[in-house]
Amino acid sequence: MNEKTNDSKIALVTGGNRGIGKEICRQLAQKGLHVLLGSRSQSQGEQAAAELAESGLTVDVVTLDVSDKDSIAQAIASMVKSHGGLDVLVNNAGVFLDNEAEAHGSVLHIQGKTLEDTFRTNLYGPLHLIQACVPLMQARGYGRIVNLSSGMGQLAHMGGGSTAYRLSKTALNALTRIVDAELSSPHLKVNAVCPGWVKTDMGGDNATRDVAQGADTAVWLATLAEDGPSGQFFRDRQVLDW
Ligand code: NAP
Repeated sequence: MNEKTNDSKIALVTGGNRGIGKEICRQLAQKGLHVLLGSRSQSQGEQAAAELAESGLTVDVVTLDVSDKDSIAQAIASMVKSHGGLDVLVNNAGVFLDNEAEAHGSVLHIQGKTLEDTFRTNLYGPLHLIQACVPLMQARGYGRIVNLSSGMGQLAHMGGGSTAYRLSKTALNALTRIVDAELSSPHLKVNAVCPGWVKTDMGGDNATRDVAQGADTAVWLATLAEDGPSGQFFRDRQVLDW
């Protein structure tokens, strides 16, 4: 059967050096998964790993810039060499660039560069990682993919402003559905999650949730049982409208 124990599972978390990603690494390691903490800065990744080690948790650091296809190819090759494959992919790395853009990313002012830079990390990164990782998961007959999305990408409750971020997360939600439609095995699952408004560099100090709350649903989705859902969008372990 394809169900494995946690301690035999390999999980890659992008943007694991700080914020929600670091907390997802912590919670997955606490559950016994072998965590690969992706970080575009090797030294910041090692700093995060050292912090987790203080709580008795061991994670490996993988240098990974999700906006760079060569970096993805190198990270995957090194992961296959050292660990033989992958069971769990958490596409957590993300940027919110609209605050630095004209009129806070108003749709009437948004420029190509803000859109392109945002999409390179928030959409193409997850897409390229999924392309690289799904064959590895298919080979193992097991896979869990979690895409860190946002209520700001929810069509059902779409607002104005922050156009680049909103579009990138709506597209990430669509990517989640497309991948789910193409995965032909019940042993592979892909879901999107909104972590809520979380106190991180991105969320800011006024956010209402701590990182432990922000990471909870992503970790749940990363460790779903065989009869768990796929192709859905969650917050607080509850299904959201797209
Ligand atoms: P954060 O504190 O700003 O951390 C972002 C992480 O992504 C950092 O580790 C950063 O690495 C990494 N990253 C950015 N660009 C990258 C790239 N090209 N390659 C690899 N890593 C990259 O953000 P967060 O609040 O933890 O957010 C995590 C995810 O949750 C994001 O996808 C975000 O959109 C989503 N989210 C957050 C909130 C919230 O309230 N915080 C709400 C909804 C959704 P560096 O340190 O190298 O920059």
